[in-house]
Order: sequence, then structure tokens, then C-alpha cells
Amino acid sequence: MHSPRPSNEASVTGKEKPPPVRGARENAKSWSGNEIRETFLRFFESKGHRRVRSSSLVPHGDPTLLFTNAGMNQFKDVFLGLEKRDYTRATSAQKCVRAGGKHNDLENVGFTKRHHTFFEMLGNFSFGDYFKKEAIAYAWELVTSPQWFGIDKNKLYVTIFGGMSEAWSGALGVDEDARTYWLKENVPAERIVAIPGLKENFWAMGDTGPCGPCSEIHYDMGPAASDLGHGVTAPECKFPCDCGRFVEIWNLVFMQFNRIPPGGWLPTDDDVVQEGIARRNLGVPPGPAMKTSADAPTLNRYSSRLDPLPKPCVDTGMGLERVAAVLQGVISNYDTDLFLPLMKRAAELCGVDFQKEEAIEEGKGGAASLRVIADHFRAATFLMADRVQPSNEGRGYVLRKILRRAFSHANYLNPDHLTLLSPMAEKVCELMGGAYPELLEAFPAKAVVLVAEEDRFLRTTGKGLRKLDQMLVRSFNEKQRDEMAATGRVQSTTRLSGRDAFFLYDTFGLPRDFIEDATRDRNVAVDWQEFDEAMAEQRTRARASWKGGAKEAANPAYAKIAERFTTEPDFYFGTEAKDCRIEAIILSGGAHRADTKSGPVKELKAGESGEVVLDRTAIYAESGGQVTDTGAFYDNSESQLLAEVTGAFYPVAGLIAHKVVAKETLRVGDRVAVVADAERRARIIRNHTGTHLVHAALRNILGTHVKQSGSLNAPDRLRFDFSHFAHVDAEELRDIEQQVNEEIRLNTEIETNVTSLEDALASGALAFFGDKYPEHNVRVVTIPDPRAARGFYSKELCGGTHVQRVGDIGVLKIVSEESVAAGVRRIEAVTGIGALEHYQQQAQILRQLASQLNVGEDAVLAQVEKLSQTAKQLEKQLEAQMRKGALDQLDELASRVQTVKGVKVIAAEVQNVDREGLRQLVDSLRQKLGSGVVALGMPENGKVALIAGVTKDLTAKVHAGKLIQALAKQVGGSGGGRPDLAEAGGKDTAGLKRALQSVPSLIESLL
Ligand SMILES: [Zn+2]
Ligand SMILES: [Zn+2]
Repeated sequence: MHSPRPSNEASVTGKEKPPPVRGARENAKSWSGNEIRETFLRFFESKGHRRVRSSSLVPHGDPTLLFTNAGMNQFKDVFLGLEKRDYTRATSAQKCVRAGGKHNDLENVGFTKRHHTFFEMLGNFSFGDYFKKEAIAYAWELVTSPQWFGIDKNKLYVTIFGGMSEAWSGALGVDEDARTYWLKENVPAERIVAIPGLKENFWAMGDTGPCGPCSEIHYDMGPAASDLGHGVTAPECKFPCDCGRFVEIWNLVFMQFNRIPPGGWLPTDDDVVQEGIARRNLGVPPGPAMKTSADAPTLNRYSSRLDPLPKPCVDTGMGLERVAAVLQGVISNYDTDLFLPLMKRAAELCGVDFQKEEAIEEGKGGAASLRVIADHFRAATFLMADRVQPSNEGRGYVLRKILRRAFSHANYLNPDHLTLLSPMAEKVCELMGGAYPELLEAFPAKAVVLVAEEDRFLRTTGKGLRKLDQMLVRSFNEKQRDEMAATGRVQSTTRLSGRDAFFLYDTFGLPRDFIEDATRDRNVAVDWQEFDEAMAEQRTRARASWKGGAKEAANPAYAKIAERFTTEPDFYFGTEAKDCRIEAIILSGGAHRADTKSGPVKELKAGESGEVVLDRTAIYAESGGQVTDTGAFYDNSESQLLAEVTGAFYPVAGLIAHKVVAKETLRVGDRVAVVADAERRARIIRNHTGTHLVHAALRNILGTHVKQSGSLNAPDRLRFDFSHFAHVDAEELRDIEQQVNEEIRLNTEIETNVTSLEDALASGALAFFGDKYPEHNVRVVTIPDPRAARGFYSKELCGGTHVQRVGDIGVLKIVSEESVAAGVRRIEAVTGIGALEHYQQQAQILRQLASQLNVGEDAVLAQVEKLSQTAKQLEKQLEAQMRKGALDQLDELASRVQTVKGVKVIAAEVQNVDREGLRQLVDSLRQKLGSGVVALGMPENGKVALIAGVTKDLTAKVHAGKLIQALAKQVGGSGGGRPDLAEAGGKDTAGLKRALQSVPSLIESLL
């Protein structure tokens, strides 16, 4: 837990900062983080790699992942062979977040040199193209060539997979191939270290699927980097000592095998032969294989097997922050230019001196807190740019936790200072917006959300601490309460339950450290074990909430079918397609017949339901917010209905499965005519084009921070969710409607063209970055507008279907605007016939109103105003009458005065007044008496109201509150109040008279 101290060496990062301890690398060019990123990508471009932009931090369509955490995430389907790209070599700088879930080591961040919640992974990927030889040659050239990074070879070590005696179906040997290729690059043999075991240098995507050995490059930071003082106060250490001195900078993964799942599966002769080949290729001696059931129990743990992949792949990951530390000659990632400007900004905002804080290392406050703030704001800013919003579950919960930790550390750093950290996000955008333009686009909206979250934190922290005090006081005994009041702490240690502590944490967002500090100060122990249990339950709930959003898994048979062909989308050209071939049939919902297991079947009999894949189709399958078409299959002459189509979906990319109910027997190989419900489609596409218009209008009128966060294009309406920090007011909504309908009347022809992603984005097309787009063949839908500077009103990447001319929409009417989450608004609108239906409904409501009110339709509003005026007047009159009634009773009541032991007393029941009137009566009577006691009661809506008043001179003897309590008891109620005025309510109207009659005797007993 120590970190760099000032030393006397020259600084590489500016003279205002005390120079950090230098790593072993000196006298070399200094590289900025941005230069390193760009150089890496350029290097691999020069080796024929496609530069692919970072995918969103929110993984698309991968329910197994909370956040994107590796460069390969976006290529997972490519590695699995489920998706084809038009390139076989790629390179990327991928933004990653590791927080929450199984990699939850948030507590370490800021207190070590290399823990981060947000980090960047530089990677190169080969999809069945090159393998170990080239991957190793490229890595070594980039790292050591003076033309590139030029790192001193004498500081580098490499590791290779060192074998494993019992890997699944048998032994795996040392990766001698890798060793050979490293030697070929002139890496000295003693610097190539084989690490045995599956834990270190073996990678697997999951329990099954691609896996293979890794090879890593490590850098020797020198003895100063050792956390254990190796080489300084203790003996010199040797690679691969894990004292912190040797840092892994690059991991090369060789996807060499496919791991086949276990499960009653015995290898065939052919498999055994294949395995033999695999072993020979690997140089592994023949080992035990699971050949008989007698072997099964012992081999159970390893009963899956490894098959060599026909086209092995490469996946590498170089941590930008680590390489930056190496190339900038510092030991800690936090001393690089990726973090220093953020830490300095944090110091400014917290009102502390950066250099002084640098000298404080242990505990809270000091540079550790600055590092936490810098790291957490990188993560938070990027997460918010990818439209994660702070919330209480799932990804939003992780974001909220990260922000709160940052806010807490600002508080540790300078408790007396009101620190507002939101400007940190601006600094992150400034530093990284060049490489990640999405940061700049999303900024204004994000800033507002941040300020709101910080404000919320500041308010709730105060509230949370007060709540904690209340909880403590409740659990104390009398003596402890006195101690607490006198000294602020209790003498004997008491306990706070872990559940209560978690309640504070969870409901008030009071950070654990706050609770720890506050309870320690008060000498209260917290049951942290119980706290952790409650926390684990909460986490399970959070995980469940994002897992729930996952789409149902498609039948695995589809992946096999997708290898053969993709379904041609004829739905772009109309609602009918003839001569479509049935390529595959799968029974619905994983059902299977005894003879076919759960795979595809040859035919579907009349009356059966199933999923049918065609070579072409006119049915649009649900995607991009546009709902699926429905329709039917006919024979090619369209005279006979063969099946009803209730919907269609993409089980895997490129393949459309139709959900059908067969009317006649359908067989694989049959040719059918596909007909989509044209009226339904027409309604859907009017709404879809309408969505594009609304999107453009929102950006024109509210600002370009508006980003789509979801949409639905259904037959009856369109729904559009977007990021915006305030509600859209009536005037803005009217402007949006007007602008959209003006475009509709312009009636331009919609243009659709297919181009590369790069060209599409360059031409100004809007993309929904939560989505994964192919690099090529992206569809761009343009709504032209000759009046606009760019020649169009709207241009979006979109795979949906649209009207031909924008005028086909007819009219678009917004019907609602509401909030769906913090910072996310939802607009619903209707178009065409849907709009007509909407108007008809509204007209009917108006007609009914008019007939109820018995006036003409245009007089409804005036009539309602008149009626509400009348109602208000009547209310006022009634009130006045009651007051008057009360005053009328005044003289009569005053005459009922009686004297008890020399005190004047009035006790009476009154009628026809309201509570306020009753109060006024008591007041007036007190004045009239000058000195005395008044107790009045009245029935009120089947209940009883009582008021007692005592003149000031008598309150020492007759306490109005005590008197009213005694009276309330007699009417089954309760009450209380000041010595001079008290009120009560009760349920027992029958007891009211008796209660009032008891007043004189009650007073007598008091006097
Ligand atoms: Zn060591
Ligand atoms: Zn669209």
C-alpha cells in the first residue's frame, strides 16, 4: 500500500509536480498516453489490420457480462464462428470497466499502483488468419523496435504456457511452438519462462468453447517497484517474483482448441484419431482419454475434451495504463499523464495542495483519495457517455457506487470544504474526447445528471448521519442516552445491527466508511458480518435485474444452419415474395420428437407449431425497435394457405426464423410464397419513419445531447426514449409536432443506401452506439430536405423498413411525454390512421362532455369554468354561514357560564360550525370571560371534535392539554396541546354530552 515518493530525479511530467520515482527506463523519448494508443493502432494498420472502434461499455446482446471488460468482447461471435466479417485481422483500443460482479476489488482502487475501475485495452486480433508465429513477431517488433516503442530488451521477460498434467481429457504439454517463435525473435532462452498450470497462462472463453495457451510480455520496473523491498532491504528477486517489480504489459492469447462439453458423451473412433492428431501437433504424448464408462467417475471433472480448432485465432490485450507507466518511466500507473491532470484537477476542486497531499499516503485523504477520484471519474464519465444512469440496480447501481465513493473521498480529503466534483467529468472529456468522441457529444446532459447525483449525495449523507444517530439513541438505555447527550459517545461499547447499518448504506447511500467512522467515534460496534450478508443479497438482486433483460437463448441448431447461408431480406422491397425455399424447421420452445432429439426436423405436420427458416422472406423480423410482421405462407400460386406466421426473429445474426402454425404439412425443400400483412406493415412503417422525424426534431429543438436510448415502432403507435435532463414543456412539444408535420407535408422521397460504417458516419448519419453495426453494408435511411444546409432533415443508420415518401405518414401527433428513468424521457406519438383514430376518440370524449353539460361542443370549456366558479362560490358561502352560525351561538354560549371554586367555566356542545369556527368560538369566549376555562365539542362527520381553552392566568392550575386528554378518553379518542389551548378527536358521538357534563367536576379536581 505504498506509492511513489518524491525524489531528486528530473520529472517527465512538468515542473509543478514533485518528480515521481523513476522506473528503470531512462533517457528515452517520452510518450503521452494518447500517442501510445495511436501508435499501437497505426502499427497494426501497417500490418494489414482493420482499425475497429471501441464498442460500448454496455455489452450488446451478451447477458453474461455486466460491462465490457476486454477487447475481444465485441468479437466474441466472430471467434465463435457465429458471425462473419469482411476482414480477418483487426486492431482496437477498447474502453473497459471492471467493477461489480466477480472482479469487484473496488476497495483496492487508489491504494495500489495498478488497480482501476476503468482502463483501456489495446489489442490485435486474428480471426483464423495468422497464428503464434506472426503474433509473437508483431508484438516483439512493436515493443522493442527503435522505430516504435523501443523498450530496452534487457528489461523484458516473456512467459509461455508450461503444461498441465491433467487437462480435461488428458495432459497438455509445454507450448514449445511459442518458445520456438520467441527464440526466433532473438529473445534469450533464459528470458523465456514456462509457467505450468491452467491458472496463469491458459485462457478459456467459458466452460466450453474456444481456449488455448497464452504468452505474456513482462517488464522489469527495477527494485524500487518491489512492494516487499526486494533488492533494497531484502535479497534480490528473480522473475517471475510477484512482489510488484515485474509488470505484465501484454498478453497474447492463442485460441487453439475448442472445448467440447461433457454430458454422457463418449468419443467416437474418429474423435480419438482427431485427438491423437491434436496431441501430436502439440507434442503431447498420448494420454488417458475417456473411452469406457469405467473411466468416467475419475475423469468426471475433466470429462470435457479439447479439439483443435480448424482455424486457430489470436486475441491480445495490452493495458494502455501499464505501457504508459513503462514508456513514461514511472512505476505507478497513476503517475502517468493519463491520471496526473485528473488528480491535479481533483486537488483544485477539493481545495487542497496537490504537492502536500502527494506526501500523505496512508489511510484516507492524501494522494490515495485523489487517485480514487481520478480513477472513478474516468469510469463514471465513460459509463454515462454510454448512457448508464445512476440507479439502484444493475449497471446503474455500480455507477452510483463509483460516484459515491468519489464524493466520499472528496469529503475525507477536506471535510470542511463543500467540494463539488462534477467538473471532473469535463476534465475527463477534455483529456480523452479526441480518442472517444462520444464523450463530447453526451456532455451537457451528463453534466446535469452528475450535478443532480452529487446534490443527492450531499443531501442524503447529512440525512443518513442523522438517521444513524436516531438509530443509536433508540438502542441505548437511559444511562447511555445521558452519556451520549453529555459527551457524544457512550462509555460501554454497544452494538448496531448489520441490517441497520446496511439500511443506512442502501437507503441513504451512506458509504460504509462513513458508518465506520461515525460508529467508531461514538464507541459503537457494528455487526459487519451481517452487513456483508445483506450486501450479498442486494448484489444477487442487482445481478438478477440485468440478467432478466437477456433475450431467450436460441436453439443451438441455428448456429449450425447459419454456417450454410443467411436469409435474404426481401422485406425491403414489399410484402410478398414467391418461391422461397424452406431451409430448416425447428420445433417450438425446444420441443423434440423421439426420433430427432432437439435438432431440426424434416417436416412440420398440419396443426403443429414450429420455427421455419427460409432462404428469402418478405416478413420483417423484430429488430431495431421495429416489431415483427405477421402473415402467412401460401403455395406458389397463392391459392392455398400453408401456414400462419405469427412473427419472426433473428436467432443468430443473418438468419430469420418464422414462428408458424402449419395448416398443411411443410417439408424442408418446399417452395412457398410468403405474404406479410400489408395493412399492418403500412401502419408500422409510418410509425418507424415518424420515429426518425421525431428524433431529428428533438435534436433540432432541444439540442444535440438528445440521444436515442430505445424505440418501439408498432402498428398502433411509436415510442421514442431519449436522454434529456428536463421535462419537455408544452411549447417545445408543439414546436416538435409542427416541425415534423412540416417535413411530412414537404413529401420528399426517402432515400436508402448501403455503404460502409465509416462513410455513413462521415456523412452525418446518426448511429445508436448501443448497437453493434457491421463495418460494411450498413443501411443509411435519409429523409431529404432541399431547404437544409446538408440537404437532409434526417439521416440514420437503420435496418428497418420505411414509407416511400414522407407524406405517406399523413400526420403525426404526439400523445404523451413522460419520464422513464433519471435523465431519460419518453415520447409516444401516433401517425396516419392511428392519428385519425386518436382524433376520433378525443372527439367522442368532447361530444359526451358537451351532452353531459348540455351545451354546444365549443361552449364546453366556458361551461366547465362557469361550473367551477359556481362551486367555489358555494363553498365560500357555506364557510361564511358556518362562521356566522358560530358567532350567533357566542352570546348564547356565554350565558351558560358556571363557576367552579371561583373559576368561570363554559362547557357546551355546538352545531353547524367547522373546526376553524370552533377554534374562533373558544378564542372569543376566552376573551369574553377574561379569566376562565372553555371546553367546546361538536359532532363532525360521524366523529367528535373537542377544543379546550384556558386563559393564561389559570394555566398553572388547569392545563388545557391534560383537560382535553381526560375528555378525549370519554369519546374513545386522544388529543393534546399547549397549556392554554388543546384539541382532541374521538369516535364516540354518544359520549360527547357526558364528557362535556364532566368538565366542571374535572376542573374541580384539578383546582
Ligand atoms: Zn521480488
Ligand atoms: Zn430506424
